[in-house]
Amino acid sequence: MAVPLFDIKPQNQALAEDLQAAFTRVLASGQFILGPEVQNFERQCAEYLQVRHALGISSGTDAILLALMALGIGPGDEVICPSFTFFATAGCVARTGATPVFCDVRADTFNLDVADAARRITPRTKAIMPVHLYGQAADMAAVNELACRHGLKVIEDAAQAVGATQGGQHIGSLGHCGAFSFFPTKNLGAFGDAGLFTTNDDALAEHARLLRMHGAYPKYYHRWIGGNFRLDAVHAALLAVKLPHLDGFARRRAANAARYTEYFAKLPSIGARLILPAAQPGNGHTWNQYTVRVPGAGRRDALRDWLAARQIGTEIYYPVPLHAQACFAALGQTDADLPVSARLASEALSIPIFPELTTTQQDEVIGAVTEFIGAGR
Ligand SMILES: *Cc1c(COP(=O)(O)O)cnc(C)c1O
Repeated sequence: MAVPLFDIKPQNQALAEDLQAAFTRVLASGQFILGPEVQNFERQCAEYLQVRHALGISSGTDAILLALMALGIGPGDEVICPSFTFFATAGCVARTGATPVFCDVRADTFNLDVADAARRITPRTKAIMPVHLYGQAADMAAVNELACRHGLKVIEDAAQAVGATQGGQHIGSLGHCGAFSFFPTKNLGAFGDAGLFTTNDDALAEHARLLRMHGAYPKYYHRWIGGNFRLDAVHAALLAVKLPHLDGFARRRAANAARYTEYFAKLPSIGARLILPAAQPGNGHTWNQYTVRVPGAGRRDALRDWLAARQIGTEIYYPVPLHAQACFAALGQTDADLPVSARLASEALSIPIFPELTTTQQDEVIGAVTEFIGAGR
């Protein structure tokens, strides 16, 4: 039986009636850019995330870029971010004219190593961007303490972790501002590209709101240079249908994760051959990905091929750490300087975890991984 890494169709099919009603409403309204549908979704998000301001944005990438622009980050500035993350985190820093400075991550959480970040602070450092990778919060208490000590802004790349909490508080409300993505594979999956910018800072929210519309105030008068970072009404209306179900989706993801861990933990010499992901105490993990580590030269790729031969979908998030990307070569950061990021890029493998994964499908994955380990591979 084929098991896809991800399938959004059953989730949307179950909500089809409500989604179609929302679409019909937007169609009839004739108002497609911002407007009441976006305002309604923003209110819903602000309440859910317990944050003062939530702005609908065109994508997660644009939300990160907007956050940097709203904080006034640009040429001559440095922004510290993990090397082991999706490209957009650092790509946006470079697009503002600032320099991304990569820090290493922790092997147990895949999230930034705050002690390593601290070593990389210079007089030019303006901000730090923790990423809540795979749906689990980075250590925000430590990040905020470091940032406070050095006068840095904290931008949360919350793209993979909508709904995740730390100490009972939602991520995206813990730093100066946060950026969420509703790319279809994220836990709150849109119907195209969509994102959200969040902050508790009234002035920052106001500035971001202006930059979302080319920095104009009033209309056609530009004191600032912004962009078109707006969320479409149709996406807002459809996402508003799905948001009330988000915690339910996350509970099913968590149940799938717990079941994988229950079975895999029983495999022989498991710790040395397959390292399982875990939620840290105090973290509400939303399991956007269930990512195992397969140590040993070539073993991760061997497991991936083994699963592919059984029609089981997997993905490598991410095969090349950002410091090793061709476009960042001129920054001169090396594997020796970022050893954990380099190692994880060769060990990480994400397996199917989506909420609608059936027990039969999951058994197929568990069986195939068990066979691989059992075969002494
Ligand atoms: C998905 C993602 C983004 C970008 O979001 P888009 O909506 O695809 O633009 C940024 N950072 C991380 C860590 C992501 O996973």
